[in-house]
Amino acid sequence: MQCEICGLETKYPKVIMVEGSRITVCSRCTSHGTLVGNYQKGPARVYRRSRYKREEQFDIAADYDKLIRDARGKHGWKQEELARKINETTSVVTHLEKGKLSPSKKLAEKLEKTLGIKLIEAVSDERVEVQQEKSGPVTLGDIVKIRKR
Ligand SMILES: [Zn+2]
Repeated sequence: MQCEICGLETKYPKVIMVEGSRITVCSRCTSHGTLVGNYQKGPARVYRRSRYKREEQFDIAADYDKLIRDARGKHGWKQEELARKINETTSVVTHLEKGKLSPSKKLAEKLEKTLGIKLIEAVSDERVEVQQEKSGPVTLGDIVKIRKR
């Protein structure tokens, strides 16, 4: 493989993102963009894949773990009690409160109803696109998209 930036022949090419484009480079040139990973032969991996079905796309509050923990505390419920109320196991509640489990929309709705908190924020398609781009910082193009709204 040849580095697309400096042209150097490289045995272990890396892939970086520059302004939303994937570029194959040598290890010295990875600093020109956001490192995606090692170059792999075959079809490019899909990075823009929603974790949920299309109709389930939504934003969850970034501090959902704290919101759930605080709300449960206000109600004076133990984790087991909350788990029972939302029909989930205690470990689900534990993971949610540690921020290790991002709730599905259905679960988030149950939590909202049971705890009387707001976790879900509906998002437009365009903002979802930006949210899904996990491979690097928001690019100029993304910012323009956000500003248009
Ligand atoms: Zn290079």
